[in-house]
Amino acid sequence: MKPILVFGHKNPDTDSICSSMVYEILDRKNGGETKAVRLGEINKETKYVLDYLEEKAPELIEKIEEGQQVFLVDHNSFNQSVEGIENANILGVIDHHRIANFETSEPLYYNAKPYGCTTTILFEEFKQLNQPIEKKEAVLMASAIISDTLLLKSPTTTKQDKEALEELASIAQIDVHTYGLEMLKAGTDLDDYSCEELINLDAKQFDKENTSFVISQINTVSIEDILKREEELKVVIQKQIEEKKLDLFVFAITDILNSNSEIIALGKNAKDVIKKAFGEILQNDKAFLEGVVSRKKQLLPNIDKNI
Ligand code: MG
Ligand code: MG
Ligand code: MG
Repeated sequence: MKPILVFGHKNPDTDSICSSMVYEILDRKNGGETKAVRLGEINKETKYVLDYLEEKAPELIEKIEEGQQVFLVDHNSFNQSVEGIENANILGVIDHHRIANFETSEPLYYNAKPYGCTTTILFEEFKQLNQPIEKKEAVLMASAIISDTLLLKSPTTTKQDKEALEELASIAQIDVHTYGLEMLKAGTDLDDYSCEELINLDAKQFDKENTSFVISQINTVSIEDILKREEELKVVIQKQIEEKKLDLFVFAITDILNSNSEIIALGKNAKDVIKKAFGEILQNDKAFLEGVVSRKKQLLPNIDKNI
């Protein structure tokens, strides 16, 4: 029997990698044989976590065969999933995103909670299944919570995330602030990425009936630093708009220390959509969005409503 594959979304972030690894650990504790895999290169923040644990990244896969048994974490949309997902046998989903672009032919296990991070849901599953949490999975789960909630500062953060992180940090023997800041900062080392790589590092595409748009996000400790490459960034964004026939591309440069974002928005009605969504006028295709750090709760819903 081929193992069940568990994976997060394309352009994987720390939550996608850690929650698939943690799900594999939890399933094995329960006598299952799930194997964690990934759908893209790991970013530097995730590399920091894996190096800390001296763990290897899950195996990279590009597509799956028809009928392959899979388990999805940290996503549900097919357009953010693996090639071939339409014909896979989806056994379950553990996720904290809205449900869209998702359909199965068989009944499935579905655990969705509006928490700040997928691993907070997994933390609850450990408890429900009475499984002990050991140091490795504690580090993986804590890291994902720190990443997705930007050290509990994002408006996506819930009481459950805070409580889980506190308990996990004590098992992991990490100081949340010191470890978390080091980990987040490792992810902001972006100098050796090309502009094309930068806009794809954490990009998600959203398809509606007649519109398609991408919201891409990077974390930084200096927005100014990224904007030194503004002109070149606009060129590669424009190229993607043409190649993927997008209506809008929003590139959010998020200052993780001050919890703000500068966006570069290009596309047919970019000015109009951004004005309606955030009350800001694009100047030179850019706008500063005070207090905006979350794609899921701030960028996506406002753009989705107004595009
Ligand atoms: Mg994610
Ligand atoms: Mg997540
Ligand atoms: Mg994210």
